[in-house]
Amino acid sequence: MLSDVGGPGQQRLKAGRVAIVGLGGVGAPAALYLAAAGIGGLTLIDDDAVSLSNLQRQVLFSADDLGRPKVQVGQARLHGLNPHVDVQTQPLRLTTANAEALLSDHDAVIDGTDDFETRLAVNAACVALKAPLVSGALGRWDGQVGVFHGRPCYRCLVPDIPPDAETCARVGVIGALAGVIGAMTALEAIKIVVGAGRPLAGRLLLYDGLAGATRTVTVPADPACPTCAGVAQASPG
Ligand SMILES: [Zn+2]
Repeated sequence: MLSDVGGPGQQRLKAGRVAIVGLGGVGAPAALYLAAAGIGGLTLIDDDAVSLSNLQRQVLFSADDLGRPKVQVGQARLHGLNPHVDVQTQPLRLTTANAEALLSDHDAVIDGTDDFETRLAVNAACVALKAPLVSGALGRWDGQVGVFHGRPCYRCLVPDIPPDAETCARVGVIGALAGVIGAMTALEAIKIVVGAGRPLAGRLLLYDGLAGATRTVTVPADPACPTCAGVAQASPG
């Protein structure tokens, strides 16, 4: 019924497959909304088990799931929500060595991980595979969402791993903020799969939860980027 989606868009969604790297604060709500929307397939990539401190933001899991593998719990929960989604599980850590094999044959990749080594590995694989990357990240009270498809890539934004990178587990995050950013990544993935609207390609949406303010900035391509230099520049989204 929705304009810009309609019957053909729903069919494209049903034929689409999205990989979610990291079933954390961003990936968990993203998976729920993609399954509920009727995505054809999801690939869940995470080597972690559910722990008590996850539950305030990782709404895919419940207290009964403590200690169980996240991908296994996630698969069962998503099937309960929508039995028509083909949910594949990869209970392992994504690395430079396995990234391309894990992420090939997907219409979009959502990265919600909170370590830069994994993020750069996901980015390099997406550039090599020409797959659109939807990147979501959380700070304490703020979050960001961007889409990278070809050039500029995520590494143009983060050329080197920041030495003092913070993680949710270390500094804390408000669970509702994870919901906002996770849902935004799901929305961008749905837009890409369906072909609706204007994805955040080459742009970064910054959400300041305390101020209740958003702004969107353009990400310039880094002429010296070792990952995407030589790749054709994406048309402004
Ligand atoms: Zn780049």
